[in-house]
Amino acid sequence: MSPLPESATIRAMNEQLISDNIPKLRQRVRRSAEKSEFGNSDILVIAVSKTRPAEDIRVAHAHGLVNFGENYLQEAVQKITALQDLPLIWHFIGPIQSNKTGLIAKHFDWVHTIDREKIARRLNDQRPINLPPLQVCVQINISGESSKSGASMKELPNLAHTILQLPRLQLRGLMAIPAANAGTAQQHEVFSLMREALAQLRPLAPAVDTLSMGMSDDLEAAILEGASAIRVGTAIFGPRNR
Ligand SMILES: *Cc1c(COP(=O)(O)O)cnc(C)c1O
Repeated sequence: MSPLPESATIRAMNEQLISDNIPKLRQRVRRSAEKSEFGNSDILVIAVSKTRPAEDIRVAHAHGLVNFGENYLQEAVQKITALQDLPLIWHFIGPIQSNKTGLIAKHFDWVHTIDREKIARRLNDQRPINLPPLQVCVQINISGESSKSGASMKELPNLAHTILQLPRLQLRGLMAIPAANAGTAQQHEVFSLMREALAQLRPLAPAVDTLSMGMSDDLEAAILEGASAIRVGTAIFGPRNR
């Protein structure tokens, strides 16, 4: 019997890994949601598929995942095009340069990383009229690091006000990434600040319902503090090279 070509072996191992990981993730999510006092029993799991081939996304979809997050635009557009036969919902979660807004507005359903007025206006102007309004979150630079993208809490009211005037965008909520070296206590602190900021935004617009926070390593803290959407890469697809 001749051995399988290496690529097919790797593919089979990858499929097994993803199939094993998804139920484990669902259990982590369920346990935290049960413990949370903030009542999000229905947590949206966004599978972060950056750097992963389209085949991995097909496997995750076969296990019930529908929402996928991408950071790198060129690679994302290729995968979105290759997977048009599946009913997937695409979330842009990377930093946005203004020359990229056209492709983002054309290919994505959600954008989590609006951090300034110029980007909001361009996405609004470039959203194709045959598509529903783009669902958007404002990214907050919650750890206050100058190198990180995101609006400050101080800038949030004006930015939210601008977005609410733009007919081709629908403001859904807030997104944040805590500092990579944050310990559990610090994670809880920043996530609870986010929950309070969302509570202030809610009365401004009925569609505001989304708190996008929590990744593979901090999703428990995020869900306990009221996350409604988590963005999970490694815990679904395994470690990344970049
Ligand atoms: C890569 C990425 C994630 C997923 O990170 P994991 O640690 O692999 O779960 C989530 N959110 C954003 C914005 C990312 O860039």
